[in-house]
Amino acid sequence: MRYCPQCSSEYENTIQKCSDCNVDLVPYNKVEKDRDTENYVEVYVTNQKMEMDLIRDLLEKNNIHCTVRDLHMSSLPMNIGEMAEIRIEVAQHDEGKAKELIQEMISSGFISDTGEFIDED
Ligand SMILES: [Zn+2]
Repeated sequence: MRYCPQCSSEYENTIQKCSDCNVDLVPYNKVEKDRDTENYVEVYVTNQKMEMDLIRDLLEKNNIHCTVRDLHMSSLPMNIGEMAEIRIEVAQHDEGKAKELIQEMISSGFISDTGEFIDED
């Protein structure tokens, strides 16, 4: 069973794309299982929204599911500005790979190095 990440319609495994949204379907069981059992860890923080979008695209192209938490949205008005942060989270087993990919983007000049890696002990 596969499902559409956009509208949550379910499809047979032989179908590749959602006929309504034209987006790639994802395997149903795998995603549900990952969400239930995996811990998500923060890997990178920046206040550059555009860079975060680039990072998310790259991770998803490499089949790494990620969550972006935009603290601009939840901050008190007085905190908006340099204190605002956007954090990206990936499943724990993807942490090393995700950091490698982000590091490569920085090394190649694709994104700036204004963000920071987050190391959790
Ligand atoms: Zn759909």
